[in-house]
Parts: sequence; C-alpha cells; structure tokens
Amino acid sequence: MKKFPQALADYLVAEKVIPKETLSRLQEEMNQSQEYLGEILIRESLIDDLKLRALKAKLYHLPEANIADLKIDREVGKEISADVINFYGIIPFQREAEILRVGILNPENFDALEALKFIGEDKKIQIEKYVISHADFSKLLREYSSLKSEVGQALENITAPEGPELKLNDKVKIEEITAEAPITRIVAVVVRHAVESRASDIHIEPFEDKIRIRFRVDGVLQSALSLPKDLLPAIVTRVKILANLKIDEARLPQDGRFSTHLEKRKIDFRVSILPTKTGEKVVMRILDPIADISLESLGFMGRNLAVILRVMDNPFGQILITGPTGSGKSTTLYAMLAKLNVEGVNITTLEDPVEYFVEGVNQSQVHEEIGFTFANGLRSILRQDPDIVMVGEIRDGETAALATQAALTGHLVLSTLHTNDAIGVIPRLVNMGVEKYLLAPTLSLAMGQRLLRRLCPSCRVADKPNVGEKEIIDKALAQLPKQAKAEVPEERLFFRPAKEGCKKCGGKAYSGRVAIVEALEMTDELEKVVLGSLSEQAMRREAFNQGMMSMFQDGIMKVLRGVTSLAELLQVAQMISTTVADEATPIKSESEKIPGGPSLESGPVVADKEQSFGV
Ligand SMILES: [Zn+2]
Repeated sequence: MKKFPQALADYLVAEKVIPKETLSRLQEEMNQSQEYLGEILIRESLIDDLKLRALKAKLYHLPEANIADLKIDREVGKEISADVINFYGIIPFQREAEILRVGILNPENFDALEALKFIGEDKKIQIEKYVISHADFSKLLREYSSLKSEVGQALENITAPEGPELKLNDKVKIEEITAEAPITRIVAVVVRHAVESRASDIHIEPFEDKIRIRFRVDGVLQSALSLPKDLLPAIVTRVKILANLKIDEARLPQDGRFSTHLEKRKIDFRVSILPTKTGEKVVMRILDPIADISLESLGFMGRNLAVILRVMDNPFGQILITGPTGSGKSTTLYAMLAKLNVEGVNITTLEDPVEYFVEGVNQSQVHEEIGFTFANGLRSILRQDPDIVMVGEIRDGETAALATQAALTGHLVLSTLHTNDAIGVIPRLVNMGVEKYLLAPTLSLAMGQRLLRRLCPSCRVADKPNVGEKEIIDKALAQLPKQAKAEVPEERLFFRPAKEGCKKCGGKAYSGRVAIVEALEMTDELEKVVLGSLSEQAMRREAFNQGMMSMFQDGIMKVLRGVTSLAELLQVAQMISTTVADEATPIKSESEKIPGGPSLESGPVVADKEQSFGV
C-alpha cells in the first residue's frame, strides 16, 4: 500500500497547487488506484511532473536528478531488486565507486529510507538520495525490466514472488539448506547485520501491511528494515527450519535454538515464535559465546574488582548480585564463572534460561511446568557434589534456604536477587525467611549493579561540565569514603555524546555498555548490625566505613574517565541513591524504606524495562 505523503500534501496546499478540500478525495483516490499521490496530481493536470519534483526537492531538502541527461547503465539496476524498487518507490540510477545514487519518489516514507539504509550497509556503499520525476522513474523501470527479460522470463517468475534479493556476502554461509533461495539470503543477511551491529535480539514483527524487523542494540530496539507482508510465511518457515521447529504449527508458541558460524565465531541463537493476530512473531536472542566477558571488560575496577576477586577465592559463601531486569546481573555471573572455571572444579548451574554456554560447566535449565524449579533443581544439584553452584535467581524462601544451606556446607553459591541495591539484599533475605544468624556466616558479598551505555570513543565530544553538572560531580566526590578517594582519576575527563554520532557507532554516539557497581562485603561490623538492629542507617554507615562506593559514585568515576556521559548516568541513576552516606538523597531507594518493618511484603521495586542483558 502506498503511503500518503502528508507533509507534501500540506506543502502543496500551502503553495496553492491544490485546494485543501481535495485532500481527502486524493487520499481516497490513492487507496483505490494504488498510485502515488504525484501520479494522480499529474494525471489530473493539477501539477506538472518537473514542477512537482522541484517542490519536493525544496520540501525534503534533497537534490533533484534529471535522468534524461544521464547515460543509464543497466547493471546499476541490479543493485536493488525489482521487488524493492516497486514496493518502496526507490530506484538506483548511477553507481560511482562506492556511491550509489538513488531516485526516490516519496522521501516521507520512512520504510523506504530504512530500506535504503539497510541496502547501503549491506553492500557497504554510500547511498545518495535524489528526488526524481515520475516519468524518469517509469523510464528507469522499463530499462531495468528489459534487462530482466534478457536474462529470461522463467527466472523472473521463479524469483519474483520470493521478494527482495539482498545479496549475501560470499564468505558468509549460514546453512546449506536451500542456500540459493532469496528468503534464505534475507534471513542470513538480517542475522549477519544483527550480529555485526552487536544486537542482542532480532524482532521480526508482523503488521497488517508489512513486516518490521528491529534489532535491540545496547538495550534499545531500533528499526532495521521493513519488508512486504507477503514474505512473512516464508521467513517464519525459514527460521523454523533453522531452529528445528514444527513448520506446520502456526497456532502455538514454539521455542528452539540454532547456531551458525559468522567470521569464524560460533554464535548461538535462541528462537521464540509467538502467534499474533497479524501472523507469527519471531524473536531471536543472540547468544554470543565469545563476547569478551570478563569482570574487567564489564567495567569492574578498583575496590569493586579487588573485593569480588577476594570473595571468589573463598571456597564457600554466597555472592549475590542485585538489580532490576536488564541490569546485566547474569552477564556478571557468567564473567565470574569464566574466571572460576578451571580444571578440577565442579561447577553446576541452574538457569532460566541458559543464556551462554560455558565449556566444562554443567548447565541445567529450570522447567517450572514439570516441577523442575530452582528449589528442586538445587536440591538435586547439591547431591552431585559440586564445588560451585550458580543459581539463576533466588526468588522464594525455599531456594533462599537451600542456597544458604549450600553455602554453609562448603559450596560457593552465585546468584541474583531482585532488590534495588546492595544493602537491600540483607533485609530481602531475612524477609524470605533466612535466619539472621545464618546470614552473616554465609553471605560473603552483596552487589548492586546497573548498566550504562558507553560513549562511542570515536565521536565523543570533550567538554567542560556546566555549573550544575560540576556540582553533582563535586558532591559525589566529596562524599566518597576515604579509601575510595584514591580511585578518582588525576586527570578528570568530561565527554558528551556527539549529536550525530559517527559511522563506527551507527550514528548512536554510544557503543557497548559498562556496569556500575557497588559491593558490600560481610565484615565483623556488618555482622553485628545484621545480628542486632538490622537498621538501614547502621548498614549504610558500615558500608561507608568499609569503603563502599555507591553505584552512582562508581558511575561518576566512569564519567571522569570518559567511559560514559553524565547525562547517561543521571538517567539510569534515577532509581538509585547517589551516595552511601547521603541521608538527604531525594530519591529514596527501596531498601531505605525497610527499617520501619514488614514493608518488604510488597516485593521489590523493580524497573522492569525490558532490556537485553540477561536476568
Ligand atoms: Zn561514534
């Protein structure tokens, strides 16, 4: 269906080319005839083709191309497939080294612009957009299709119904099955692009009139491509074949996985297919096992790194990471596992779901529906004599009790909890029924974590903080525990995201993510507080005394190192207290409400924004 160019219509009204009253009739006409608005206007002699082109150039700030003056190279027509040309009204007319010049009929059609962007990235060429006349568009179309007739009508008949032929890089071979079919190529190209843009998820979403493909990059969903709706069944089938799912089942959700090699890396995909009113929706989670997961690369440094390495050295105890969904807890767990995974150590995990495969680790998947819960699973695992146990999440009293028991009986237990910050872990465990006197000897470390986007190092912009920003930074530094002051970098950097971004970050100004962390260690003093008053204030005081930086302060350290921007930190930090000792923090963290009593009943405050990074 052709998109009605609203801005153009308004502009034509303003320019007195058409009276306002005709707009709804023209729109209706467009729906009926499936023509472009311009074609109708020209047909009805309301405007001349070239005048329209000039007005469009002015409105959309694009140059005009006059095809009549050019020598048309038919080979250029092959740069974009006929289906894409017809569907989006975009047509290539000139190729010069790495530049492809493309005529576009409706620059308001966002999907067309996206398709061009995708083609440009896929072919690694620069696309230059021009407005062209309808006559020139038709002329080019005729030139190119006559080429096709030379190649043979038969071939066209076979390939045409299958849609756009986005060429796949020769060296990339996803699967041998039906390797030449265009659909296979589309899926392969989409997958490769997703991996190359470091996406964590691919969403293939059916709408009434099109398929939208979006990638989640750094936690944010971004449109990658729109495709004609009639390709959906073939694409879904292709994914089902890859993931070994039932092709003829379209009414029930299905889950599966597949793996592929891209540039010598083996990458796993977890596939989930969900029937919706407009067709089957596909989500592919990209599980990249070689993604460089180490505590250092995640952003652990200074005391935080030292403390976590120290407690990981203990043969027993619990290390619990806390934070809302999407705060990177499971990634940190995997980084710890990677470090702990040495010969002679039995590591067993219980996960929901298994997100990365770690060689040499016994990983099992929770299946609540058949009674294989975290609690039951943990009970069985403990009979298997593990040294280290990783439990995806402690979310009930039974699991909490078993984890505590495991830590007491000489196991190192790694897990996650849903609370707002490190200090919140203690009252949460007590609330789940863990005895206070067992908590102190078993809990080695409680950590709070959030993820911030890293500034793109290629285009970040050096600047000075303004008065307000300087105040925020100075206040956070002034309230650092004295042990932490040594971690303030001598040379303080300050960067802002580039307005436009650059090629390296795909125009996003950010690239990758970094964790901000707070690490509360069980000490004799903390044990006294736990066994005694369990007062929030006393726990904060002890946290400060042992030198714990708050997540916010850790974030400030990363701002001053140029790793991220203050704006990014402030946005993520809305939910966390700025300093450990700061009583006057305007935004109270969840755990700060605890000392009053049983308010925890209501459960943890969780910013449940769907994000890519695990638990
Ligand atoms: Zn950049």
